[in-house]
Amino acid sequence: MIRSILLISALGAASACLAQTLPATDKVTDRHVHLMSPRMIKLFKDVSIPFSRPDADYSDISVLQERLGTKRIHLLSMAYLYGHPEFGKVENEADLVRAENDYVAAARKTAGKHTRFYCGVNPLRDYALEEVKRCSERLKADGIKLHFNASQVYLTVPEHVARVRPIFEFAASEKLPIVLHFDNTHRRFGEPDVKILASQILAPLKPIRLQIAHFGTSGGFNSRTRAVIEGFIAELEKNRDFAKHRIYFDISAVALDKDSEGVPKLTDEQFSELAALIRRLGTHRIVFGTDYPLYSVPQYLNILKSRVRLTDKEIRKILSN
Ligand SMILES: [Zn+2]
Repeated sequence: MIRSILLISALGAASACLAQTLPATDKVTDRHVHLMSPRMIKLFKDVSIPFSRPDADYSDISVLQERLGTKRIHLLSMAYLYGHPEFGKVENEADLVRAENDYVAAARKTAGKHTRFYCGVNPLRDYALEEVKRCSERLKADGIKLHFNASQVYLTVPEHVARVRPIFEFAASEKLPIVLHFDNTHRRFGEPDVKILASQILAPLKPIRLQIAHFGTSGGFNSRTRAVIEGFIAELEKNRDFAKHRIYFDISAVALDKDSEGVPKLTDEQFSELAALIRRLGTHRIVFGTDYPLYSVPQYLNILKSRVRLTDKEIRKILSN
């Protein structure tokens, strides 16, 4: 399960063989990047999750910028992993969550004006709302990252909806965008969850910007990806109170050209099915992200171009959203 939460894998040398008509790598905004504190790295290592690169590649913002090829980065804190059952129990979870968010916020400071910080929190915890408020007020967070798989959030459970709603309400009132890893990997996850998100959480809110990570799943591409996206398309078409929001889907970790920690790479046929789904959804709904450390910017752009076979015009549109 952890292995699909963070698709850690080796990064090859950044290749720059992109067409001239695409923007230079350093002009690209990567909206899905993970930076970890040394303490978070230790948490992974303590449960024997291998890291293929030196620690600095995951924890040092300047190394990360270098490897990604851009400074236009949205850093998503993974603070919600503290207290996750697969990492074992921690004594002072709320303190560790705060420290992790502090670490990512501090990295943004040194990173320059194009870097954004997203505060990570498990919405089911008692301290969740307090922490997002602290992130907003004290750390000047640019957004909130929620991970429904790591936090095992089931919108089909009314108590979970009651916990998630105040976070969204706060985001709407403060105009904070949310990046949501929506998939909780339950076998029944899909259309019912999309409906609840749309009607019970988002419909009553003032418009917010919501970025659904990895096309709504936990990475890769299969029939489930299609079902989730189709569920969103149906809701966007019929539910005006939902469609008033700025809903985007990030393509990070979807177009895998290598197996990644349990998620299989796409077949040629799946790459073309993905291209068809992208066109059905509309490139105006899609944003770019690498899920670093999974890929660098040039590597992933190259996949969109040569494997998914998007046109430069389509890629440029995605990059502009
Ligand atoms: Zn991610």
